Amino acid sequence: MKIGFIGLGNMGAPMAANLVAAGHEVTGFDLAAPAPEGVSMAASAAEAATGAEVVITMLPNGNILRAVAEEVLPAMEPGAILLDCSTVDVASARDVAAMAAEKGLGFLDAPVSGGVGGAAAGTLTFMVGGEDAAFATAKPLFDVMGQKAVHCGPAGNGQAAKICNNMILGVTMIATCEAFALADKLGLDRQAMFDVVSTSSGQSWSMNTYCPAPGVGPTSPADNDYKPGFAADLMLKDLRLSQSAAEAADADTPMGALASALYAQFVESEDGAGRDFSAMLPRFEKRRRST
Ligand code: NAD
Repeated sequence: MKIGFIGLGNMGAPMAANLVAAGHEVTGFDLAAPAPEGVSMAASAAEAATGAEVVITMLPNGNILRAVAEEVLPAMEPGAILLDCSTVDVASARDVAAMAAEKGLGFLDAPVSGGVGGAAAGTLTFMVGGEDAAFATAKPLFDVMGQKAVHCGPAGNGQAAKICNNMILGVTMIATCEAFALADKLGLDRQAMFDVVSTSSGQSWSMNTYCPAPGVGPTSPADNDYKPGFAADLMLKDLRLSQSAAEAADADTPMGALASALYAQFVESEDGAGRDFSAMLPRFEKRRRST
């Protein structure tokens, strides 16, 4: 397939490289990042989109997506698809879908989970919103860049799935970390805590697969001095998206709101910036009830 790829950062570069390795013809554009191997670079986003059957974007946020969409949609061939893999707000995804539809173009929102490791290994999970026909066209690309693509319904539903999932993740990680810190203070050994909780009703991905306690459970960023992994900054971004969506939809999400406030404090006022999101455990370890 002839593909335009805009946004070749930590995630976009390995995704584009995997498409090239699978035999696709990829023309890229980024304001700053260098060309991944095998990707020919265009002078602008519009140039990268010209003649492409699918234009993939992997950008920092919804405002940038909107600006790039305004530039690339007029350059795209009739019937081509804009496939946005960034994590953005639901409203931006739905607005860009409407802009594309007006021009007779397809749009899919397809945020990912799996991080930089999954992008490099081609094992991402895609959560996809948009029309069936566009999903069918993009499916071979999902198969190259990932191991699973779930069609979640119409435009915006991929982003909805992503932020709901990550809201659960943020809340359960905090709950797991505060429980470990409490267990420490009660004199409960961390290995015993893991052995019980990971096989009892308190289990979760945060405990069982990504245990925040070093030396306990499977290897995780806790065993690498909390180097990300999944940075607390990105968790904060996703929690804020969940809260703006909850506000727009008039949904009551008290745990998500508290998780968002705690990650904001951790990243912006404490030492959480650039650390893995499971570094909430050393944060709780240092704290007392009154602070
Ligand atoms: P990044 O900052 O490494 O990459 C973004 C790239 O977009 C940069 O290279 C930047 O130069 C480029 N860019 C910005 N504005 C542009 C424009 N107007 N035109 C062209 N290029 C532009 O970020 P990333 O880690 O690759 O993340 C990308 C997206 O994926 C984000 O939405 C993020 O939330 C999401 N995501 C990231 C991870 C992760 O672990 N890094 C995991 C899941 C989802």
